[in-house]
Amino acid sequence: MHIVMVGSEVAPFSKTGGLGDVMGALPIAFEKAGHKVTVFSPLHREVRENAEQSKLDVEPADNDLVSVPVGDTEEKARLVKGFLPGSGVPVFFLENDYYFDRSGLYVDPKTGEDYPDNSERYIFFCRGAMLACLQLGLQVDVLHAHDWQAGLVPTYHKHMYADDFAGAISAFTVHNVAFQGLFWHQDMNLTGLPWELFNWRQLEFFGNLSLLKAGLVNADLLTTVSKQYAQEIQTEDFGMNLEGIFRERNKDLRGIVNGVDYSLWNPEVDGMIPAKFSPQDLSGKAICKKELQEQFNLPRRQDAPLIGMIGRLVHQKGYDLVLEEIERIMDRNLQIVLLGKGEQRYRELLGEATRRYPDKFAVKLDFDEQCAHLIEAGADMFLMPSRFEPCGLNQLYSMKYATIPLVAATGGLVDTVRGHREHGKNATGFVFQPDSAEELVNALRMALDIYSQRPGRWREIMLNAMNEDWSWDRSAGEYLDFFREKPGVVESNRQ
Ligand code: ADP
Repeated sequence: MHIVMVGSEVAPFSKTGGLGDVMGALPIAFEKAGHKVTVFSPLHREVRENAEQSKLDVEPADNDLVSVPVGDTEEKARLVKGFLPGSGVPVFFLENDYYFDRSGLYVDPKTGEDYPDNSERYIFFCRGAMLACLQLGLQVDVLHAHDWQAGLVPTYHKHMYADDFAGAISAFTVHNVAFQGLFWHQDMNLTGLPWELFNWRQLEFFGNLSLLKAGLVNADLLTTVSKQYAQEIQTEDFGMNLEGIFRERNKDLRGIVNGVDYSLWNPEVDGMIPAKFSPQDLSGKAICKKELQEQFNLPRRQDAPLIGMIGRLVHQKGYDLVLEEIERIMDRNLQIVLLGKGEQRYRELLGEATRRYPDKFAVKLDFDEQCAHLIEAGADMFLMPSRFEPCGLNQLYSMKYATIPLVAATGGLVDTVRGHREHGKNATGFVFQPDSAEELVNALRMALDIYSQRPGRWREIMLNAMNEDWSWDRSAGEYLDFFREKPGVVESNRQ
């Protein structure tokens, strides 16, 4: 098959969260499984910065100028080509400085607000990616679009370019239903799509234009990033008013848990940590712990269980639950480090807590890949008190680094972590009821007690966790099976 993947971030060139990781790794797994893959992504400013920093080549592609109608005007996308590192997968970046040469991807760091023209930027991106495919003469079997920024791809496929992509199917992967790409209805004019599509069965969502919904109603296949989340989004509690669509389309919807790129996230090979380690020899982990304490200005105490947290500072991630019970938590012998970027109110609350407990609680308010690796390697436990979590990647990384995950029982965390109480000899972590500070504290206590009083049991959980295999090959296989089930997908009769 020739699979064309369209998404607004692609690691290591650009990343704000799990989407970037998936776009950077899944294409390589498809290629390894014997398929042809091409990726399209915007040339955000950070792509150039990361390419320079990591010495990744990007250069103008042949046939590189694409004319993209946006409303009544024609905009230009220049195609700049790179490759996913260590693979033959080409990435075509759509360059347009007006739209994408900005200091943030979706949010203006100066104001903390979304860019006001985000609809126009990603309408341009979707239509530009479709037109680029045609201009490059790609023979496409599967158009695989991701999240609201690429939500119009299945719609353009079905309602504008059906003949040009004859024989292709579209798949749409939702990484988080909370991000819906909702815009003023008049932005329909920018899409070039007929206004008849602005109705409640199609692109309209309570009077607004929804680019997420566009993908959900028009893609041939839908996926999301865990089995549990695929169930949850069919309910009122998690569907964010789109549960009706997920229920209606549940035969076309599949949950496929994300994978891990073990060439990057593996303590045996990780070049970003001060000492490597493995299930056979864990001694390097203590060196990583020491370095982590040093970087966060915490006392270098091997005996204090060190708890790591990494993530966007938003309601979803539940960090406020930790703050709610901070006194009871800090009563214990422990240290906590948190790495995160996000909303002002969390930044303030976290700042206050670190001033109260300077020897126990330290925070870095930044996006820092190297620091994320050091936390995974140096911490003893990894806490994820998410209220909802479509997949979650850090619990998967943590397990490989013998950093025991303490997770709320929601979404992909349910699919991937086996709780100490429920799974006995096979446990890989600790699982507690979501959205409850009380349950969080109870689980933390249990974990701390086992850590300090039952080292044999702790070691058993560590080894179980390290031996888990969440490589991308498994996920890629599930995607490929799903694509093949769709009538019309030909196992390349074009070869
Ligand atoms: P989400 O996509 O909801 O943000 P995921 O767990 O799916 O959450 O993916 C988050 C990814 O982003 C992980 O690779 C995580 O390590 C990374 N990440 C999140 N915040 C930061 C940060 N402040 N610095 C470095 N990496 C981060």
